[in-house]
Amino acid sequence: MSESSARGAVDLDTSLIDAVGAMTAKALAKLDLTTVGDLVRHYPRRYVERGKLTDIAGLEVGEHVTVIGTVASATTRQMRSRRGTLLNATIRDAKGATIAATFFNAHQVKSFIVVGATLMFSGTVSVFRAGGRATLQLTHPEFEDIEESDSDRPFISIYPATKGLKSQAIARAVRQVLAVLDDPTDPLPASIREERTLASLGSALRKIHVPRSEADQFAAKARLVWDEAFGVQLALSLQRERAMARPASPSPVRSGGLLDAFDAILPFPLTDGQKSVGAEIAEDLGKPLPMNRLVQGDVGAGKTVVALRAMLQVVDSGRQAAMLAPTEVLAAQHARSLRAMLGPLGNAGELGSSDQATKITLLTGSMSTAEKRQALLDAQSGAAGIVVGTHALIQDTVGFADLGLVVVDEQHRFGVEQRDALRGRGERTPHLLVMTATPIPRTVAMTVYGDLSVSSLTDMPKGRSPIRTTVVPAGEKPSWLERVWARIREEVAGGHQCYVVCPRVGGEFATSKKKSDPEDADEPDLDDDSSEERRPPLAVLDVAPQLEAGPLAGLSLAVLHGKLPPDEKDAVMRAFDRGETDVLVATTVIEVGVDVPNSTGMIILDADRFGLSQLHQLRGRVGRGSAPGVCLLVTDMPAGTTARERLDAIAGTTDGFELARLDLELRREGDVLGSSQSGRRSGLRLLSLLRHEEVISTARVEAARLVADDPGLANHPGLRALVAETVGDEDAAAYLDKV
Ligand code: ADP
Ligand code: MG
Repeated sequence: MSESSARGAVDLDTSLIDAVGAMTAKALAKLDLTTVGDLVRHYPRRYVERGKLTDIAGLEVGEHVTVIGTVASATTRQMRSRRGTLLNATIRDAKGATIAATFFNAHQVKSFIVVGATLMFSGTVSVFRAGGRATLQLTHPEFEDIEESDSDRPFISIYPATKGLKSQAIARAVRQVLAVLDDPTDPLPASIREERTLASLGSALRKIHVPRSEADQFAAKARLVWDEAFGVQLALSLQRERAMARPASPSPVRSGGLLDAFDAILPFPLTDGQKSVGAEIAEDLGKPLPMNRLVQGDVGAGKTVVALRAMLQVVDSGRQAAMLAPTEVLAAQHARSLRAMLGPLGNAGELGSSDQATKITLLTGSMSTAEKRQALLDAQSGAAGIVVGTHALIQDTVGFADLGLVVVDEQHRFGVEQRDALRGRGERTPHLLVMTATPIPRTVAMTVYGDLSVSSLTDMPKGRSPIRTTVVPAGEKPSWLERVWARIREEVAGGHQCYVVCPRVGGEFATSKKKSDPEDADEPDLDDDSSEERRPPLAVLDVAPQLEAGPLAGLSLAVLHGKLPPDEKDAVMRAFDRGETDVLVATTVIEVGVDVPNSTGMIILDADRFGLSQLHQLRGRVGRGSAPGVCLLVTDMPAGTTARERLDAIAGTTDGFELARLDLELRREGDVLGSSQSGRRSGLRLLSLLRHEEVISTARVEAARLVADDPGLANHPGLRALVAETVGDEDAAAYLDKV
């Protein structure tokens, strides 16, 4: 049967059972591939160029090589030093040269490594010495079965495979399907394709699987990467379009109001960044178009003032603002510092308040029923101009008289759904201001938060003191640890305060392995390499008494962690704030937003157990006043390990943007892109936030243009399908149907 005559028999929706037969389909189902579409979207992981296959004769020790060879001998024997069997083979290439290969799990490989089998082997060449003779060998190489008839194809496509389903079996199935598949209708408008000189979808799908040249691989990837970037950006444009269907209430600047009164009592001049970002926000707030703005500014850059000024502008229009914080500690602290900043302007209803004054109401999940009722009443009646709370604020049914602005502090702790939950009420969409101290690389901002405009506070308030960060290798140099405690004593003697942070709470909570919710997030983000031999991470409840009885005897210590009752947490924070406590031994509950300018020392124990961004956040808690801060990262990880490299990286720079980039490199990109952990397959396979910045930003522009011309993509059903394919059906439904 010729290939062309069979085309048209299957399309992307055809089940693999019909396309390749029940046997192969069953094998492919192991990879969750059930339709022809699934299979053609299962791209090769890499290619091996036949012409570049290495000749065995020319191999060098230490080289990573891929060779095609025939098994010339294969013997299995019992291992002497440990249990299990060893398979020794000799591999001969087409030119007659041979190399030894050794496999440790003989029972698993012996059915493949049989004399006469021609296979492709990949591994590193090592040298094996026995009886004074040195022999080159491949130790436990990867191998793929290879068909001689493949030799007319210049590239061998290597697929992500699984147990019982080899790459070559996948390759065969793909080729079988491509032979009978009509090119799918290309959803991409011809104008975009031409402008970007992109291959057609059909050609890209064929070339990614069976490239004839490197140019083919390049062209195929360029097109498929574009589709992924475009799919995401279309989804985001649709989301924005949907948001515009519910306009915001404009709150333009009103002179002579609360904002002006506040500016007049500000004890410091605004930084240039605060001024320019403030102006951008002020303009947005005056429009009926719902604002979606992300303000990123390093720890201590002064985001709170920016947010407060935005809230006051909204209050000046007779509307309300809500401020969401990730933890109770932070919400309480925000309420406190907003009240402190506003002074008489924030005491409406109280004695001595200004007649322009507004009321700041705190609402958290742990408040007493009576307090909560009052807070809810304040929100409902409009008595509270500003409502500060945790996400209890979102989950409870809080009614607002006229909510004009939602401020979300520390975005990384909130999901998109959460922030939308509060905005999704009422006929009008409140403006949204998101503040983050964990800088988001441009590509992530555009991709994940593509519907947000981004403002950056790049300068710091004057008089900020530098923070010195030092890695303390307690494992190699135990005496350094004594220096750490001595340093705390010096800071305290100088009238300052310190934090000692541990990864764990400890005590009766030690066994709780449950992933904590953000409200009491005591667990570091990044701790997945905890091998069994390592001691458990240090715990607040163990460390505090040891310090109190030992190196820090005589100082006043307090503990703070997420498992404390909220009022106790609050009391501990207040005491520390007032300078009554010298040293706060805490978990990462102090990570976000805690602001005590008198604290100058941040000691992080088991620092290697924390994520980069987290360490940077923690470090930002000191050096907020006029005295210089010191951050000591204590670890017992040995020099030369990745863990130590990460700590050195953070010690080496205080540039949050640089660290965000490093963090992104260390994390799997999928984790950043994936909107949920539901295991739903995402359509993003090739797109890289690091490598495809240009593609993402062009796709963003094109997507906005297209959605503006064709609302809801009514005339582009193919692109609607692309959106569904890229962001997953459920999300797409949300974007598409609510337009
Ligand atoms: P962050 O951006 O980390 O949230 P904050 O808003 O908490 O920073 O500000 C940190 C500290 O800097 C606060 O004590 C705040 O009052 C102070 N601050 C903010 N802006 C200025 C400024 N322009 N000049 C001097 N101090 C400022
Ligand atoms: Mg803050």
